[in-house]
Amino acid sequence: MADPRAAARALISEHALIAGEAVTGSGSRIAVDDPATGEIIGHVPDLGEAETKQAIQAAHDAFPGWSRTDPHKRAAFLREWARLIDENIDGLGALMALENGKPFEEAKVEAVYANSFLKWFAGEAERLLGDTQDSPLGHAIITFRQAVGPAALITPWNFPAAMLTRKLGPAFAAGCTAVVKPASQTPFTAIALVELAYKAGLPKGALSLITGDAATIGGVLTSSPLIRKLSFTGSTPVGKKLAEQCAPTLKRLSMELGGAAPLIVFADADLDVAVAETIKGKFRNSGQTCVCPNRVYVERSVSEEFAEKLAAEVAKLKVGNAFEDGVKVGPLIEDKAVDKVERHLEHIKEKGGRVLTGGGRHELGGRFFQPTVTLGGDDALFREEETFGPLVPIFAFDSEDEVLAKANDSEFGLASYLFTRDLDRAFRVGRQIEAGMCGINTGLTSTAVAPFGGVKESGYGREGSTHGIDEYVDIKALTLGLR
Ligand code: ADP
Repeated sequence: MADPRAAARALISEHALIAGEAVTGSGSRIAVDDPATGEIIGHVPDLGEAETKQAIQAAHDAFPGWSRTDPHKRAAFLREWARLIDENIDGLGALMALENGKPFEEAKVEAVYANSFLKWFAGEAERLLGDTQDSPLGHAIITFRQAVGPAALITPWNFPAAMLTRKLGPAFAAGCTAVVKPASQTPFTAIALVELAYKAGLPKGALSLITGDAATIGGVLTSSPLIRKLSFTGSTPVGKKLAEQCAPTLKRLSMELGGAAPLIVFADADLDVAVAETIKGKFRNSGQTCVCPNRVYVERSVSEEFAEKLAAEVAKLKVGNAFEDGVKVGPLIEDKAVDKVERHLEHIKEKGGRVLTGGGRHELGGRFFQPTVTLGGDDALFREEETFGPLVPIFAFDSEDEVLAKANDSEFGLASYLFTRDLDRAFRVGRQIEAGMCGINTGLTSTAVAPFGGVKESGYGREGSTHGIDEYVDIKALTLGLR
């Protein structure tokens, strides 16, 4: 692509959308920056209660028509939307690289991954199966899976496209209408996707996108009786608050919250595979994913060897601006994210851990941090706080029971990883780990066909897979008196 930055800027729309119409608002605007430079790349309107209510009303009004549309037509719409996204992979990738800071090549992979949810759920729309049952009362019971109603979808900045399509794909497949609130750090990708949805023929009102203060918009969405479903991806404290706000109207909830993923390497593992996969899992999005390994436990007999191999590979990762050739690690999203990684690194050092590579802020300055590997220290902090940055703390362990207890001693339970060539152990540990997902001999588990979600304070509900659509449907039972 000749000039990806120019392609990204060409896709920037500085407005929200209510029922498909551009809304610029009359008040203040929110600045969006390029995390690599801090330069302002555009603004979005700072909308509030009135506009959010309008969007909710539009979703409510559009719901009867959209939910009763032939599911094959909804599938056809999803496929047309996906086709338009496929035509714009480079542009959308460039836009994500610009507003999020992730390397351009990686951002294009996200665009493809994001689109895979629309394609998958187009198929699911065509397979919204119910069942039939004879009842002991002499009736026939027939079930239908029907859309829950207008849905509020609140998404984070780390996957500006995929977190949106992972919700909108099943919502539209089921027949829900939606109001979207993207993260203020990365609204432009979401706006571009919504514009493409309308280009693909989505009926007016079926989708609105509101930008502005999260607490204000979130407050209106969660308290509205017209919204029947909330799907949220973000931090556990905000998720808890939203669940509380939804309680008075008893909305259906999906909560994809924080993690503190353990990654366990047993001595019998293929260490080269374990090293390569740890890097893939940890450094995606510069360490800013809720499934990134947060704490790496390695059996003591191989801990030095693993740590040295990992450090040698991590030292090769090029840090820089998303659009530079060969960059694997970009900047963090904001200044306070850098402060947090620094605090976690200081903690490791205070507890006696050794730095094997990296070890502080990057010479590029700003929001860049050196990819860092440490060995030793204390893991307690990493059980309860996700670093969300390019730091891999390694801790040695002596027995399976010990490491399993440590892995499970956390409020979180989203992703987990284990490396072993012992099949019995893979199943035994894999099934006992308290996490919604466990990657065995792999550091990447996310695809549209795999159920994504957590247990404990990592939330509930599943996205993707054959289960994803369940979050957006109610089971309607028709009981037929047979005479
Ligand atoms: P992160 O640490 O990933 O930014 P947050 O939970 O703060 O996680 O943000 C995730 C999403 O939730 C973003 O879209 C953000 O704007 C939104 N958000 C944050 N606080 C609230 C709130 N009080 N009500 C509704 N949405 C919120």
